[in-house]
Amino acid sequence: MKEYESRYKMSNKGKLFVLSGPSGVGKGTLREHALNDLSNLVYSISCTTRKPREGETDGIEYRFITHEKFEEDIRQNLFLEYAHVHSDYYGTLKADVERELEAGKNVLLEIDVQGALQVRDKIPEAVLIFVAPPSIETLESRLRNRNTESEEALRVRLSNAAKELDLQNEYDYIIVNDDLDKACEELRRIIHDD
Ligand code: ADP
Ligand code: 5GP
Repeated sequence: MKEYESRYKMSNKGKLFVLSGPSGVGKGTLREHALNDLSNLVYSISCTTRKPREGETDGIEYRFITHEKFEEDIRQNLFLEYAHVHSDYYGTLKADVERELEAGKNVLLEIDVQGALQVRDKIPEAVLIFVAPPSIETLESRLRNRNTESEEALRVRLSNAAKELDLQNEYDYIIVNDDLDKACEELRRIIHDD
């Protein structure tokens, strides 16, 4: 299976980039900038069982699906990777990524560390990029200022952050998102030059 997936990827024309990092570190912000700046880059929309936040639309930020549908898709082996994150399922559909890579597009995934390591096992050529906060205190204040989580959800995200930071050395690149312009430029350069 591993060998098959790897050989499959070798025949693709685009490159796969995986962006991870703790909740609130700025992944979504960096992703938006990269997508605006790099014309050959597309974002693969994940599936999740999480409920949409205010302002989120099905098919734009995520495909919002039920637990039952997600588990059926797991059984059908439709996911390139999936994980249980902050008490919900999140996953990337194989078909979405394959279609874009075959069309010659570079594809960006924004996924958690468990998912990123699954992608690396299946597609060793994937480029793994970790976004780290300047400090845990900064992370907490960004998450609080974003104002999208309940106090309980916030605590879960912060306690998961420590585990995610422990895995940053598994990645090909680490970007510390302190100054936003500088972090955007680093991401652009990695995608452009890699
Ligand atoms: P993530 O997608 O990793 O959960 P977001 O992109 O939603 O994180 O960013 C979390 C919050 O931090 C947002 O309110 C965003 O505007 C802010 N933010 C992102 N990068 C920076 C930065 N370099 N400096 C200050 N605030 C930032
Ligand atoms: P949020 O609920 O804040 O949108 O995302 C929570 C976490 O789920 C983030 O760390 C995000 O990167 C991760 N995530 C989003 N989509 C996927 C996915 O398709 N697969 C995996 N493994 N994680 C994902």
